[in-house]
Amino acid sequence: VMASMAHLQKEKLRLQEELLGLQEKLTAQENNELSLSFQLQGQVETLKAKLLEQAQEISRLRSELGGTDVEKHRDLLAAENERLRQEMKACEGELRELQRQQQAPCRDCPHLQENAGLQQQLSQLQREAEETRAKLVELDLEVQQKTNRLAEVELRLKDSLAERAEEEERLSRRLRDSQETIASLKSQPQQIKYIIKTVEVESAKAKQALCETQSRNQYLQEQVGMQKQVLKEMEQQLQSSQKTEAQLRAQIMMYEAELERAHGQMLEEMQAMEEEKNHAIEEAFSRAQVEMKAVHENLAGVRTNLLTLQPALRTLTHDYNSLKRQVRDFPLLLQETLRSARAEISQAIEEVHSTNRELLRKYRRELQLRKKCHNELVRLKGNIRVFGRVRPITKEDGEGPEAANAVTFDADDDAVLHLLHKGKQVSFELDKVFPPQASQEEVFQEVQALVTSCIDGYNVCIFAYGQTGAGKTYTMEGTAANPGINQRALQLLFSEVRSKAADWDYAITVSAAEIYNEALRDLLGKEPQEKLEIKLCPDGSGQLYVPGLTEFRVQSVEDINKVFEFGHVKRVTECTNLNEHSSRSHALLIVTVRGLDRSTGLRTTGKLNLVDLAGSERVGRSGAEGSRLREAQHINKSLSALGDVIYALRSRQGHVPFRNSKLTYLLQDSLSGDSKTLMMVQVSPAEKNTSETLCSLKFAERVRSVELGPVSRKAELGSWSSQEHLEGDSPGSAAPPGRGHASLSPGQLSSRSASIRRKLQTSG
Ligand code: ADP
Ligand code: MG
Repeated sequence: VMASMAHLQKEKLRLQEELLGLQEKLTAQENNELSLSFQLQGQVETLKAKLLEQAQEISRLRSELGGTDVEKHRDLLAAENERLRQEMKACEGELRELQRQQQAPCRDCPHLQENAGLQQQLSQLQREAEETRAKLVELDLEVQQKTNRLAEVELRLKDSLAERAEEEERLSRRLRDSQETIASLKSQPQQIKYIIKTVEVESAKAKQALCETQSRNQYLQEQVGMQKQVLKEMEQQLQSSQKTEAQLRAQIMMYEAELERAHGQMLEEMQAMEEEKNHAIEEAFSRAQVEMKAVHENLAGVRTNLLTLQPALRTLTHDYNSLKRQVRDFPLLLQETLRSARAEISQAIEEVHSTNRELLRKYRRELQLRKKCHNELVRLKGNIRVFGRVRPITKEDGEGPEAANAVTFDADDDAVLHLLHKGKQVSFELDKVFPPQASQEEVFQEVQALVTSCIDGYNVCIFAYGQTGAGKTYTMEGTAANPGINQRALQLLFSEVRSKAADWDYAITVSAAEIYNEALRDLLGKEPQEKLEIKLCPDGSGQLYVPGLTEFRVQSVEDINKVFEFGHVKRVTECTNLNEHSSRSHALLIVTVRGLDRSTGLRTTGKLNLVDLAGSERVGRSGAEGSRLREAQHINKSLSALGDVIYALRSRQGHVPFRNSKLTYLLQDSLSGDSKTLMMVQVSPAEKNTSETLCSLKFAERVRSVELGPVSRKAELGSWSSQEHLEGDSPGSAAPPGRGHASLSPGQLSSRSASIRRKLQTSG
């Protein structure tokens, strides 16, 4: 607001200055005009005076010229000349007469000499007179010319004509008088001498007069010429003067008109300026008033604001001062802080460093501890896990009550499964149960830890157990679109091996074998019918090997597919009914992973045995005969042997009956020691399969329950027999030997196994 007020004041001053300047301009213009008019008036005045002067000069010249007087004078002279001429003529005549008279009477007269002298003088005079006459003639001519030339002047000199006439008359009178005088002289001849003398005197006088007259005449003529010239010049001058005067008059008129116009214009301009000035002043005044009003209002607002702002200003000033102080102190503070921060940071880094070292040390110790714990856990739990997988109801199950679903699951516990068998619900607890909707991928997720441990040098066995049609082959091999554990395991091995390729060299080989009727056959060999033997390694390491078993080195999924194709084709050509055959034999895929740590030279060998077992269904003793019975006995024997071996292993018995079957013998080194085993028990959910499902689940539970303490283990010892397995406990019979651990209530059992499962899961 203050600034706007100052601005307005400045504007006002500027306007006033402008006004003053305009007024000054106006007065200057007025003065100018006045002086101009004065000047012009002076000019007019001088011009008028000049005009007057010239008029006077003209009149003076006119009077000076006196044309009439000169002419009069000239005429007078001419008349006198004429008269004198006549007088002279008369005198000559008289003289001649007198001479004649004197020659006779007075020859010897004393006056004779005088007379002669006089005569000489006379003749001289006569000569002179002659000359004068000639001269006079000339003069006459001249005069005539002049007279002619002055004819115009004569016109102007009409007024003097009358006077001239009078003069002529007077002259004629004088002439008459002179003639009378001459006549009287003639009458007095005695006075000749005197007269002669007089004549002489007079003639001298006349001569002088003539001379004078002539010179006068000449002078006058010159003057006349001069005057004429002057007159002419004067006339010209007059003309030019008149012209100039006219011009000047026109100019004056023009000037006056211009003056008038300028004056009018000036007046108009002045008026316009005055109006403009008034208008500007009014406008400025009104604007200034409005602005002033606004400014006043603003000022009032600002004043009130100022009043409210003052305390704020005070606090701000205070704050500002304190901030200034802080800013002044800031660099020092900053330096100080930076120094301390740096020290702290370096200390922290040091601490972190040492902590890191400590952590690393602890981590290593923990790792060792964990491994020890894991080993301990494995030792405690055994490294056998039992999973259950329920396949979905299929078209093959048919329709009606037979195809009804008899298996249900626990929503809260994925390890529990309930089977409705003959109106009674029996519950089973395994390490994990896969419901029908579980995908191959989900199943493999639970298996892959086992598979990778094979790279670290562990031996692994994965068995698919169950009645024919329960989904064993589906789980192990799967379909082309949805592969099973076999292919996924090999894929995983490839990717793991690739990720470790920086430090390790790995070689993966694959063998495929079949055990049918206790005979081992190579599925990839040239002679598939040849029965292979299992032998002890001659190096004394206690390891077993199968001489002649074909091993294929595989590096990619394509290689495996080729191998599988090969094996499959072999099996198809060998067997008339593959489905039948396959359900009666155990199919093994043996993957061997051999590793070499390039930096340490350490060698590891891990074996992954993927076994699709023969169908576990019981064959009725009555209905089976011949080869069918033999097959059934072999299958029963081998499955029982497997159960025995697993039991013996998990109950940590000194003797493990590996040799009781080809299967367990072959897998001896993959089942003993710190090897890992997974039993995937496949069941059908269909109502018609409930007895077999029950048997399979009982087998599974028995395998799991082996993990109990040594006393219990011993107590369970009698529960395994091939006969038992083959014939099983018929539904509705007395409690199965597997439940021999009757000392434990089902609840106790359930909670214990659940806790163990949790531990297993957390240990990975
Ligand atoms: P097994 O090998 O035990 O005799 P199969 O694997 O041949 O049994 O399975 C029998 C039928 O059931 C096959 O047609 C198979 O595709 C199907 N089947 C088994 N398990 C599943 C499952 N989890 N999901 C879908 N179909 C299954
Ligand atoms: Mg099968």
